[in-house]
Amino acid sequence: MNDNIANLDMCKDFQDQVSQVLIRHKSILDIMTKLDEYNARINRAVAKSVTTCGCISIDASKQDFGNGSFQDMLNTVESHIEGKVCNNCKEVISEEIGSYIFYLSALSNSLGLDLSSILKDEYNTIKTLGIYTLK
Ligand SMILES: [Zn+2]
Repeated sequence: MNDNIANLDMCKDFQDQVSQVLIRHKSILDIMTKLDEYNARINRAVAKSVTTCGCISIDASKQDFGNGSFQDMLNTVESHIEGKVCNNCKEVISEEIGSYIFYLSALSNSLGLDLSSILKDEYNTIKTLGIYTLK
């Protein structure tokens, strides 16, 4: 419980810090397009883990959702990732995710949204509904 509160405090602090440093891309248009850019950069970094590094590969095929319970599906539906992301790729992907979170915080600031409340609400939803969130 204390860890959860500490994490929400860190989220609030992070969002506040973003509001203190964002100058050049403060326009909502810059923020929206930066979010798109970093979303693409995350996907690009994952793709480069496959095509350049080779630490992971993707073996995709049709998902078999079967006729079982949601719990069964949780265990049978595939990520299609083979292998493990190496430390170098983890570092690159993590940096892109960090930048994405920066602009997500900036978007929240621009619109007067509290990211920690959003995170808490989403956490409570998935905690309450579990696999029935159907995501
Ligand atoms: Zn790698």
